[in-house]
Amino acid sequence: MLKYDAVVIGAGPGGYECAIRLAQNGKKTALVEECELGGTCLNRGCIPTKALLHSADVYDKARNADACGVFADKVTFDYAKIIQRKNAITKKLRNGVAFLEKSHGVEVIQARAVLSGTRRVSLSNGEELEAAHIVLATGSLPSALPIPGTDLPGVVDSTALLDITTCPQHIIIIGGGVIGVEFATFYSRLGVKVTILEMLDRILEPFDKELARLVSGKLEEQGVSVVVNARVESIAEGLTVRYTDRKKGAGGSVRGDLVLVAGGRQANSRGMGFEQAGLRMTRGGFVETDGLCRTNIPNIYAIGDLNGKMLLAHAASAQGLMVADLIAGIPRRAIHGNRIPSCVYCHPELAMVGMTEEKARAAGREIGTGAFNIAGNGKALAIGENEGMIKIVFDKTNGEILGCHIWGPHATDLVAEIAAVMECEGTVDELGTTVHPHPTVSEIILEAAHDCRGKSANAPAQKPR
Ligand code: NAD
Repeated sequence: MLKYDAVVIGAGPGGYECAIRLAQNGKKTALVEECELGGTCLNRGCIPTKALLHSADVYDKARNADACGVFADKVTFDYAKIIQRKNAITKKLRNGVAFLEKSHGVEVIQARAVLSGTRRVSLSNGEELEAAHIVLATGSLPSALPIPGTDLPGVVDSTALLDITTCPQHIIIIGGGVIGVEFATFYSRLGVKVTILEMLDRILEPFDKELARLVSGKLEEQGVSVVVNARVESIAEGLTVRYTDRKKGAGGSVRGDLVLVAGGRQANSRGMGFEQAGLRMTRGGFVETDGLCRTNIPNIYAIGDLNGKMLLAHAASAQGLMVADLIAGIPRRAIHGNRIPSCVYCHPELAMVGMTEEKARAAGREIGTGAFNIAGNGKALAIGENEGMIKIVFDKTNGEILGCHIWGPHATDLVAEIAAVMECEGTVDELGTTVHPHPTVSEIILEAAHDCRGKSANAPAQKPR
């Protein structure tokens, strides 16, 4: 029996950072992982998709460089090489995680772990571990939708899609959520025909309505066919996808040579002894936790996708670091879920933090908004990406920032500034007196903050909001 202060199960961004922070806090720590270090984010999610999207961005920009006075003849791409580049990047990062764990003295064990008691973990290599604290960080898996035909060849989830080395001619994407939209962006920018079939009346449902509509229009402009209200019923041989229009009741079908099922993710918690150990679970196999990621068993924590609070890598990392401090007796406040940004790597990018206008109103806040059109930003114009907008939602009674929604270049980086101000409980007025560097796209934040008080100097005069 090997004894530790803490055992972390799962080496995604939540688990691997948690293990390092535990070691930094002086805890003897083991990190158990059955697959590769880095989890979904690094191997099958965030990083590989961003590598693919970068290749598509370079290709698309090279093809359309004329407007910048640059002429590139015969721009082509090698799909297998795009996949190889993605694989090289993930390998490098995996090695980086292994190096980090070693340098901090975390013992990494490659095995499948099963909880065999409230302080015990059994490993597939026959070893037994005993730990004063256990952190579960086993993540999530793509949801298998109950649609006949999803087992046909050519029907894949986002994990399998990443390793296909031939480029499709027409990809049908079931689900217009974050994964669907990012893959639609990747393929359409490579010139591949793309159809998105989304069950709801719009894509990217959790995001600001107005901005999601703009993203949808942009995808259409990029050649993507976005079909909403389309509940997929079946997939037939030859890859014909049949759907029902939820509003009109009529049926439709579309035929492609590859189908991506991107209808959400489910907890990765099966067969790991969680229920048997007495853990309380929620619908979909997620482990129930409180705001500090504590389960109903005092020395067991569940972080990241596994607790179902927010299926985002950065949320998992934040939870992992918080839990490592709690285990070491360092007081921590619960992470404010409302201050965790969400990003979509479409083109231009979409990002949000906090509440939408509707949610803020429903929460009983007296809201105002400030907006700015990216067409008015000099840097955006200079880099040829002057499409998009920013919207800040604030509380009119005290100026508190309640949310921010950005569609435009570098939106996913810019949103971090708003998250920081929200974390400090700052106001739109404090944001408005923060001097932003010129020329940068970040100046759109300043203009939107000024617009909250009806005084953006770089927007046409308008009636007070
Ligand atoms: P999602 O929940 O974001 O979207 C799934 C979509 O599929 C929904 O809009 C849903 O209405 C639709 N759908 C479900 N069943 C359908 C059917 N039968 N026919 C048509 N449409 C159907 O899920 P996702 O896009 O698979 O992403 C999974 C998770 O991974 C999310 O939580 C997301 O936040 C996370 N993720 C994040 C990033 C990022 O941060 N950039 C990138 C990828 C994934």
